[in-house]
Amino acid sequence: MTERPRLAEQVAALIEHDIIVNGWQVGKILGSEPDLIERFQVSRAVFREAARIVEHHNVATMRRGPGGLVVTAPDERAVLRPLSLYFQYGRVSPEETFAVRAVLELEATAAATRHLDVDGITRLREILAQEEELGPDHILLKGSHLLHVEIAKLAKNQVMALFVEVLGILDVEMMHEADPYPLPVADAAAASHKAHAAIVEAVISGDVALAQHRMRTHLNAIARIRAAVAQPTRP
Ligand SMILES: [Zn+2]
Repeated sequence: MTERPRLAEQVAALIEHDIIVNGWQVGKILGSEPDLIERFQVSRAVFREAARIVEHHNVATMRRGPGGLVVTAPDERAVLRPLSLYFQYGRVSPEETFAVRAVLELEATAAATRHLDVDGITRLREILAQEEELGPDHILLKGSHLLHVEIAKLAKNQVMALFVEVLGILDVEMMHEADPYPLPVADAAAASHKAHAAIVEAVISGDVALAQHRMRTHLNAIARIRAAVAQPTRP
């Protein structure tokens, strides 16, 4: 039990290395179970443990029958949820998320404003329309960070978009865990939507300084609401 996971982890790392250096060809069959056991010179038990590790990492999956180990595309959701839970376990403070969100999202807002095209304008307007249509439900459905994610995507930086998303989810979830919700949901939805509409207007008009100013004001408001939420203490 002490040796097996370590060897399996090494085999998993070798499989992942091969996938990366070969250009991450989704759907490619890396080999059948007997082929790969032969190649890595490990027992079937070790190989199966390695296959479970790469499956858990979302990089390949064992297809039963004649298939073998097949390269897959990682799933963003498989990353976001554990990361958000990890930060919740660490009792990340509103000040900590605000500090990072401000850096990332002010940068994203500037880049999105500079690079905005017709498709981007359409997507931003669709999100505002959806918020309007859902009203308070957009808060209850935990959708208030979607506008932030879209702006980060428009900045054309997927690293930024991922961290904006995880920190947005974190703030949303920590507010939702407060009982009762820190302010009347209808008020929260109206304030959030109004702030989002003002940010989008500045982004579309191409005014970087104004868009950033409005985003900062909005992030400040989120941090203040989160700061008012008492976190449960760990026993
Ligand atoms: Zn917002």
